[in-house]
Amino acid sequence: MKSASAHVILPILACLSVSLAAGPQEDPRAEIVNLRRHTHPNFTRIVLDIGTLREYTFGELRDPGRIYIDVLQAKLNPILQGQSYPVKTEYISQIRISQKTPSTVRVVAEVEFPLIQSYRVYHLFDPFRLVIDIYPHASAAASAQTPADKVLPPGDKTAPPGKPPVTLPEPGASGAPGTSMARQLGLGVRTVVIDPGHGGPRPGTIGRSGLQEKEVNLAVALALQRLLRAKVGLDAVLTRESDVDVPLEDRTVIANQKRADLFVSIHSNAHRDRRRGGVETFFLNVSPDPSVIELAAAENATSTKSIGEMKTILQKIIQNTKIQESRDLAEKIQKNLVRSLSQDLPAIKSLGVKGGPFLVLIGGEMPSVLVEISHLSNSKEEAKLKTRKYRDLAAQGICDGIMDYIRSLGKG
Ligand SMILES: [Zn+2]
Repeated sequence: MKSASAHVILPILACLSVSLAAGPQEDPRAEIVNLRRHTHPNFTRIVLDIGTLREYTFGELRDPGRIYIDVLQAKLNPILQGQSYPVKTEYISQIRISQKTPSTVRVVAEVEFPLIQSYRVYHLFDPFRLVIDIYPHASAAASAQTPADKVLPPGDKTAPPGKPPVTLPEPGASGAPGTSMARQLGLGVRTVVIDPGHGGPRPGTIGRSGLQEKEVNLAVALALQRLLRAKVGLDAVLTRESDVDVPLEDRTVIANQKRADLFVSIHSNAHRDRRRGGVETFFLNVSPDPSVIELAAAENATSTKSIGEMKTILQKIIQNTKIQESRDLAEKIQKNLVRSLSQDLPAIKSLGVKGGPFLVLIGGEMPSVLVEISHLSNSKEEAKLKTRKYRDLAAQGICDGIMDYIRSLGKG
């Protein structure tokens, strides 16, 4: 009898603790107040406005067919609780949303899998929102648009970034096709997260001419994304795609969320000695080198955690980090980057590969590096960093390094 009453009490206690912890000031959950959907001629888009970065998972359920997304650390506005939205297509019957657990919101699209060619789930920033695009086979795409559906703002009509769609096998066919070179080689690198350092109100270092690091980093990251997608067939995702600030701690959350295989943070260097120039690449480690600590302190400036506090954290983290893989990746990128940049700046120096206590590299579950592509504090290199040519060469060098690394996995 004791255990029976305990079973009754436990859920009450659980509810109590949730409501106690969730005072109006300190509720850690993001409130979801809007679900938008629109049926385009050849796909249906569902957008969940969340506003704050949140982890999420998604998957499929059968009999009946469903695609679901669970948003963690989220609460649903009571108005939306248990809502369902009919969709007038052959391949989706309705969309439902509910608070599945006190901290998880679930969105479900009820679908006819035989009529669906593919779907993709990804997120956009500023404000943070989740997007589900569902593509029917051509025959099912002729369904009429749903007049009741809301029209999305222009920002949501852009081509989605992120993972290629989950491609469902053709009825009767076996296995999902994959086009990536890495996939064809069976090497397990599919997704690279590229992190353009700084952004928004945090410009990073500023050159004498006024050139801001955040702008250089983003331009190189976008060029690298294009190369990885178009030439290599990898999925390349950016932690920011415009001039916005993303907290350092969130950048690896994004990489983990995307189940990225590699993480590359792109920066431009600054040194007190303006004559100093060159390329250096870092992996996460403690470092006794004062100049590395100085650089890490500058790159970490957006965080309140001091380098001293980090040392203890780092020593705990490092044993769970892919240090050797990160060092290998850093070496391949460093070598190729120097070679590529030397086409435009023959005197470019390699300052080598080093361990350093960089916050942005903490927490990534994949080989992670930080590249200082050149020095904005050096006027010759600053002049080069202004040019499209040099930025493209930087992207090309990093891309070659990533490819080198992927090939080395095959040999291992
Ligand atoms: Zn930086």
